[in-house]
Amino acid sequence: MLPFLTDTHAHLCDQAFDQDRREVISRAQKAGVKTIVLVGETLEDARRNLALAGEYPCLKAAAGLYPGYADLEEAERLVNFIRSQPGSFSAIGEVGLDFWIAKEEEARELQRVVFRKFIDLAGERDLPLNVHSRSAGRQAVALLLEQGAKRVQMHAFDGKYSAALPGLEAGFFFSVPPSIVRSPQKQKLVKHLPLSCLLVESDSPVLGPEPGQRNEPANILTAVRAIAQLKNIDPEAVREAVRENTRGLYGDL
Ligand SMILES: [Zn+2]
Repeated sequence: MLPFLTDTHAHLCDQAFDQDRREVISRAQKAGVKTIVLVGETLEDARRNLALAGEYPCLKAAAGLYPGYADLEEAERLVNFIRSQPGSFSAIGEVGLDFWIAKEEEARELQRVVFRKFIDLAGERDLPLNVHSRSAGRQAVALLLEQGAKRVQMHAFDGKYSAALPGLEAGFFFSVPPSIVRSPQKQKLVKHLPLSCLLVESDSPVLGPEPGQRNEPANILTAVRAIAQLKNIDPEAVREAVRENTRGLYGDL
C-alpha cells in the first residue's frame, strides 16, 4: 500500500468546482490523496469550507483572510468567527503578505497588521499557519519569526533559498505545487531545501502543471514526481517523507 498523500493547500470552495466538486474529490481519492486542506480567503470561504468539511470527511477546513483583501474590520470578524468554532478548523490560512498586490508602504503596513493578528490567533489556538508570501518571502518569514510563530507552512514560496533559510532553520515547512514543472525558481528552491521540510499542495484551481488550465488535488502527484526527479530519489521515498512531514505539522488529520 502506498503512503497516503495530503493536499495541504486547495481552494475547493472556489466556484470553479461548483459543477463537479464530487468528481474532483473522487479523482483525488483514487489517486491516493487521502486528505485535502481547504484554505479560505474570506469569511464567506471559511463558512463554505466548514460546510464542505461537514459533507466530506476527507476535507479539512481552514480559514484566513487573503492579503489582497486586508481589512481590519473583516479580520476582526473572521478572528471572532474562528474563535466561535473551536475544534472546527485544522489551520489558519491562507494569510500572509503580498507585496506584488500592495505596492505602497501604507497598504503593506495594513497587510502586516492583519497578518500579525492571524499569527497570534494561530498561537492562541495552536493551529498551523498556511502562509501566502508573493514578492514578500523574506519579509513574511521575518515577521513570522518576530511574532514567535511555531507551526508554519510557506505555500508556493516564490523567494530564493537564502530568503527561505531563516524559516527552514526555525522548522517551517514549504509546500510544493504542481506548477513546479514549469517554474525554474521552484525547481531551484526545491533542489536546495531538504526533503524533511517539504509538503505538497495543489493550490487548486490555480498553479497546475499546465498554465491556464484548472488545477485539482489529484495533480499533487505531479509535484511528488518533480521532487523525486530533482532530488534523484524514488517517488515512493518522497511520498513517505511528505506524509511524515505533513503529520509533523498537522498531526493526524
Ligand atoms: Zn492559495
